[in-house]
Amino acid sequence: MFSRLMDLLFPPKCVLCQKLLSREETDICHHCRQVTPEIEKPKFRLSFVAGWTSLWYYKDDVRASLLRFKFGRKRCYALSYGRALAMHLQQKGFDKYDVLTYVPVAPMRKFRRSYDQVELIARVVAKELDARLVPTLRKTRNTPPQSGFKDVSQRRANVLGAYRIKDTDLVRGKQILLLDDVITTGATASECARVLLVAGAKEVYCAAMAAAHQDKNK
Ligand SMILES: [Zn+2]
Repeated sequence: MFSRLMDLLFPPKCVLCQKLLSREETDICHHCRQVTPEIEKPKFRLSFVAGWTSLWYYKDDVRASLLRFKFGRKRCYALSYGRALAMHLQQKGFDKYDVLTYVPVAPMRKFRRSYDQVELIARVVAKELDARLVPTLRKTRNTPPQSGFKDVSQRRANVLGAYRIKDTDLVRGKQILLLDDVITTGATASECARVLLVAGAKEVYCAAMAAAHQDKNK
């Protein structure tokens, strides 16, 4: 009843192109599903990561949508994103993990934005996959946005030592699936994976909503 009322007041829109959805469409319109194919296989490897996948390429409507989610207060997108990512993980066979976790933002940034965007997506993914979401990492300092650095080694230096393990018992000997929103060069995901491995994790896999199109071989 409540959701029907919400649909009347705020008719659902496609999270990618913002067009109003028809009755048969959920989260993403038919057109966007056709013109925004899922990534078959990532084009580059990530250091310290055993394997990774991403739903879309980070460009055009996907990029605009993720920026609205991150900076435009469209936190409601987390539901659509999480459902799409969960389905992608099932289709790609990313189901051999003991611990489902995510890349956190720094507490100050979470406070200012009032939410941690990856955590919101990860919560929906966990619910869809009937898994428990375990926060294993915390970000110990605010780092300048990675988008300000074009060079891979600068990006790696920027996040080096910025993440700590909450509790090594949570990760020791475990296969970890680490969720993130966008993978550009993979510096952040690799740093989180490194920290998890140092803490005794067996293997770290990674999954993101979107990944850079370019072939960045680092
Ligand atoms: Zn659309």
